[in-house]
Amino acid sequence: MTFDIEGLTGHTPTPEEIEKTKSMDLLQMQIKADNEAQGYLKYYDCLKCKNKGVYYIEKDGKELTVDCECMPLRNSIEALEKSGLSSALKKMTFDNYTCGSEWQVQIKEKAMSFLTAPEGCFFFIGGQSGAGKTHICTALLKGFLDNKKSIRYFKWADDLNKVLSLSSSESRAERAEIIEPLKKTDVIYIDDFFRSKIPSQAEIKLAFEIINARYTQDLTTIISSEKTTKEIKMIDEAIFSRIFERTNKGEYYIDLPHNPDKNQRLN
Ligand SMILES: [Zn+2]
Repeated sequence: MTFDIEGLTGHTPTPEEIEKTKSMDLLQMQIKADNEAQGYLKYYDCLKCKNKGVYYIEKDGKELTVDCECMPLRNSIEALEKSGLSSALKKMTFDNYTCGSEWQVQIKEKAMSFLTAPEGCFFFIGGQSGAGKTHICTALLKGFLDNKKSIRYFKWADDLNKVLSLSSSESRAERAEIIEPLKKTDVIYIDDFFRSKIPSQAEIKLAFEIINARYTQDLTTIISSEKTTKEIKMIDEAIFSRIFERTNKGEYYIDLPHNPDKNQRLN
């Protein structure tokens, strides 16, 4: 190894400068070796960090550890596995969504166009059950995951009771563990929103907490519900107005009449 500091700086290198150059070369070699080491994290194959979750850079003559961009993705997939949605993600795709009727073709088209909507938009599909709402929203969520967005799934009826039971000060941390990702993740899907016939005040408060956080931070949100937008407006005007505004004032919301056999027209 030669040290051509003289050629670069125009003076004879001091022993300190030679030492410094030597240690810089060693540092670069160390960083390279650390970056090439193979890791064993699950859920996603990352070429950048080689599944270590971190990579290494040089800063101010020192080796610095940086969290890899694949971590939010890994956490998303892990959370989905825990939520039980991961098998649904494989089954409920755009390809196998049944389009027997014109209104189903329209639902699919709207959902697919939402994948390229500006960040922070909301997609809402409400009304008649059995119309494949969960299917289309799950396919949409998978689309965002494929686009490398961090995602979370919240099944309103099941997860709501869990959150509401965690209201004491001792369970605050546990509550935050569920709620905070819902306020920060790139894309979330709230399935079966406002499931109960008449939502309680605690339920409405939680709904506002999540919707408002996503509204103010421009975070993409997918919602399916057996309630139509009109019914949501009757439950809470503030929640409705935020959802409505972010669906591009109706572009990305679909209300299915409660008996689509009699009336297949979309509102
Ligand atoms: Zn990575």
